Amino acid sequence: MSTQSTTSSKAFSSLGLKQDLVKNLASLGYNEMTPIQAQTLPEMLAGKDVIGEGKTGSGKTAAFGLALLNKLEVKRFRIQSLVICPTRELADQVAKELRRLARSVHNIKILTLCGGTPFGPQIGSLEHGAHVIVGTPGRLEEHVIKGTLQLDDVDLLVLDEADRMLEMGFQAALDNIVGRTPLDRQTLLFSATFPDQIKSISESIMTDPVMVKVASSE
Ligand code: ADP
Ligand code: MG
Repeated sequence: MSTQSTTSSKAFSSLGLKQDLVKNLASLGYNEMTPIQAQTLPEMLAGKDVIGEGKTGSGKTAAFGLALLNKLEVKRFRIQSLVICPTRELADQVAKELRRLARSVHNIKILTLCGGTPFGPQIGSLEHGAHVIVGTPGRLEEHVIKGTLQLDDVDLLVLDEADRMLEMGFQAALDNIVGRTPLDRQTLLFSATFPDQIKSISESIMTDPVMVKVASSE
């Protein structure tokens, strides 16, 4: 595990992101990167596995969201990215932010798969296809077990609020879901805290991750 420490430029335009993504950021009023974005984006865009630790409100969603959207090939209509969140509310928020960041990306399909909503219609949506899935561990696990969700084309996996997911007892579900994604995927893990359990899951599912920790004073 290496620790990222260099000071980075705060301009989104310094990253070499796809032009349409950069233009849309300006229209969203995202004028410069937050510290966690500035420190994780160059690593994520270089294809590395990244652990990002930063408090609530530090801009973690746009950090992984931009890496995800930049990597995605819209012409390839396959599930290329999977984002796992602890709760339905958080999954909905992440999907909403991804759609805002992707306003300039035509025909992108982002699908949420969470518990608390009927299973049947989700199967129908999956049959229509998607590029990105955002979901919660319990429902995602149900879909992979039933074979209604295929993760063979996932090349980017994101665990958002990983500390909360582990606190909620989702370790086994996560192992089951992650185990169905390709081994050569890129894996990103975001968390507000870094307890021992996170260290252990990161060791089991990540390859030589770069650790980025943004102090709460920033
Ligand atoms: P976290 O996941 O770290 O708790 P969020 O991703 O939910 O934080 O972001 C918090 C808020 O900051 C959101 O309202 C988001 O739209 C906004 N935000 C994120 N990045 C930027 C940025 N670079 N410039 C301005 N606002 C931003
Ligand atoms: Mg968040």
